[in-house]
Amino acid sequence: MAEYEIVSGLETHVELSTKTKIFCSCTTQFGSEPNTHCCPICIGLPGVMPKLNREVVHYAIKAGLATNCTINPIAKMDRKNYVYPDLPKAYQISQYDKPLCSNGYIQLKNGRKIRILRIHIEEDAGKLVHEHGDTFVDYNRGGVPLIEIVTEPDIRSIDEAIEYVEKLQLIMKYIGVSDCKMQEGSLRCDVNISVRPKGSEKLGTRTEIKNMNSFTFMQKAMQYEFDRQTDIIESGGEVVQETLRFNTDTGETSSMRSKEDAHDYRYFREPDLVTIETPSELVEQIRAELPELPDSKIERYVNDYGISETDAAIIVKYRKVAEFFDATVKGLKKPKGASNMIISQIFKHLSTDEQKETFDLKFTPEMFRELLELVEANKINSNLAKSTLDKMIETGKAVRELIDEKDLQGISEDDLKKICEDVVAQNQVAVNDYHNGKEAAFKSLVGGVMKATRGKADARLATEILKSLVD
Ligand code: ADP
Ligand code: MG
Ligand code: ZN
Repeated sequence: MAEYEIVSGLETHVELSTKTKIFCSCTTQFGSEPNTHCCPICIGLPGVMPKLNREVVHYAIKAGLATNCTINPIAKMDRKNYVYPDLPKAYQISQYDKPLCSNGYIQLKNGRKIRILRIHIEEDAGKLVHEHGDTFVDYNRGGVPLIEIVTEPDIRSIDEAIEYVEKLQLIMKYIGVSDCKMQEGSLRCDVNISVRPKGSEKLGTRTEIKNMNSFTFMQKAMQYEFDRQTDIIESGGEVVQETLRFNTDTGETSSMRSKEDAHDYRYFREPDLVTIETPSELVEQIRAELPELPDSKIERYVNDYGISETDAAIIVKYRKVAEFFDATVKGLKKPKGASNMIISQIFKHLSTDEQKETFDLKFTPEMFRELLELVEANKINSNLAKSTLDKMIETGKAVRELIDEKDLQGISEDDLKKICEDVVAQNQVAVNDYHNGKEAAFKSLVGGVMKATRGKADARLATEILKSLVD
């Protein structure tokens, strides 16, 4: 059997977190009573005039710049016509042949670049709610601004697809244009997928799985579709180009519509809106306002702070954690101490993704830095530092309130070195045993140091020093 590979391109919808909708002044707030955030414009009453929210354009430009796109100096809005109850005007105002941003990319860990064909702005549709055997419509979401980010078919595995979306999500959160909550629908993905024999250059016929709103479902749907298409090709059949939905109960995809009954959207220019002109000065102004992006942060942590790439990625994965870390390490000699403490200690108390995401601590970065400075100055050992941090997490109290002055008389590195030398000199038997391969003998040396310092020494540092003395 030939080996097959996945070819995939994604169309990702990201809801922008502007205060108001794209063409009216209704709020974009999520989770309110149905049909309370509506006005004649966003429910499409006849005769109303849309007015483009400038903030939407700025947000989309930010998104474009953060994903290496070109911002097109001239863009326009178009009507995409289709009839469905979630769309009261019977057309969606979107962008067809002149999108705001083009030709960007997102780079994956393996170095591959997933090219972004375009990013355009458009309005979201309302939401259909199926309840008690009826269908209701909630237009609160109608007119909420969206960007649609379309990739080239550059994705070659399910893992790459997930990584791409995760990375896109993180970038959008960093630049603050969206909260990208998949479970609330503020990030939704249409997954286009085809298969072909490995090594082949030709694209196979694709199907499109609509509206994936969780990574788990996305993973399952792609696997199902890969297997299904591979089976068809293996048995000499042909994949039919169609639009699919993923049934989360059965784990299968099923057809929504085939290519033959694909919509003809009869795109035409939106006559009620003017051309969007973006002067290069505006683009440069927005570029200058962009925050440091996740990739540069990771690079900086690794190169400047000597933090491992894995740890750097863990810190950067949550914007608020990275911001807290950045504020903490200002002036610290060993920023690595901060990342270690966050990952090993603080995250123990914040076990869920959501908790890490909100990173709601009772103490400030400055208070955290105070603790780390005591460790750096060898005034407290790492055990005491850890237990103190635990108390800070619980109480929000400052280090000085939690540690007795007498506990702060830590042992300097020089003093500790002397003590270690004494212990080695007085325990030659143990040293010999260690040289003869008895690991336990080394532990007794560490024990000796701890005893001599009445537990105040930093065991890890003592181990390091002892090793340098006996190895
Ligand atoms: P449409 O607008 O009808 O959805 P597009 O040509 O714009 O179609 O393609 C939409 C998405 O499908 C893009 O992300 C593109 O990368 C992806 N795509 C196109 N051809 C293939 C293919 N053969 N296999 C996988 N993905 C594809
Ligand atoms: Mg499509
Ligand atoms: Zn409105």
